[in-house]
Amino acid sequence: MTVLASGSKGNATVVASQRTRVLVDAGLSCRELLRRMAVAEEDPAALDAILITHEHRDHVSGLSVLARRLRIPVYFTEPTHRAWVRQVTPRSNMTYAQWMEQVQREKKACAELEIAGSAEVVSDPDPEVEDSPAGRTRRDPTFLPAVEYFHPGTKFLIGDLTVSPFTTPHDAADPCGFVFDCAAESARMAIATDLGYLPPNVKSALRRIDVLLLESNHDLDMLKDGPYPWAVKQRVLSRVGHLSNNATAEFLARDYDGAATTIVLGHLSEANNAPELALLSAEQALDERGSRIGSRVLLAQQSAPLAPICL
Ligand SMILES: [Zn+2]
Ligand SMILES: [Zn+2]
Repeated sequence: MTVLASGSKGNATVVASQRTRVLVDAGLSCRELLRRMAVAEEDPAALDAILITHEHRDHVSGLSVLARRLRIPVYFTEPTHRAWVRQVTPRSNMTYAQWMEQVQREKKACAELEIAGSAEVVSDPDPEVEDSPAGRTRRDPTFLPAVEYFHPGTKFLIGDLTVSPFTTPHDAADPCGFVFDCAAESARMAIATDLGYLPPNVKSALRRIDVLLLESNHDLDMLKDGPYPWAVKQRVLSRVGHLSNNATAEFLARDYDGAATTIVLGHLSEANNAPELALLSAEQALDERGSRIGSRVLLAQQSAPLAPICL
């Protein structure tokens, strides 16, 4: 697992077996994602797919450009895909005449791009796009090379990775986390961020995990005294908001099975948390369990990738 970025300004994590490589979320610009992959010595051309947890901007902002550039499929739940499409479709109150004018302008711009042979994001003609009805061109912001739907609670395969998506409580259309299982390497990794609390289905999904990326979003006191408006504080604290350091510590102290070699604390709030507080609270919770729990704890970062965590 290589955490490229984690936090409210952007999330992206590479999960890989020897044979299969996927990116979970694409919440930075395509350029920045590629830059970070280079820093972490991850080869973008080796990615087989992109998986999306939910449609919030910090998880999808580089999605369409990256998927088109790499020409790889994007896995969503159907409601998340629909919500994403709504989000990236420009809204306006144009008159019919203005709309016709815009269509003509776009057609002309597309034609010029084809002549110049330098399509915006894909370098060679894609027959599927060429044959598509007028208007649905590669300039369509909702266009992706391929879309695959999955259902939370139902496993699916990408290469030799078994992906088990689980529903998370969060204020998005159909949010989820993932467990990745590689039978050939008997290794399991999980990603659980953006969740208001840890319901039983999430707790049971997080059993027997070797590398666990778990949210530790805010310190309760810092959030209460912090700069966010009242309504936003309520949202973060709600059952569909984000996990506090306390909630994460409580899980680690009571429910966690101790199986992970590495726990990565992620989605830390820059305004309402301090990395030392998150780390201290998780380590104290593990210490309470005694020496039989030997998981090391790392902090994911917003501004730079973590070194790959290998099993
Ligand atoms: Zn998020
Ligand atoms: Zn979110």
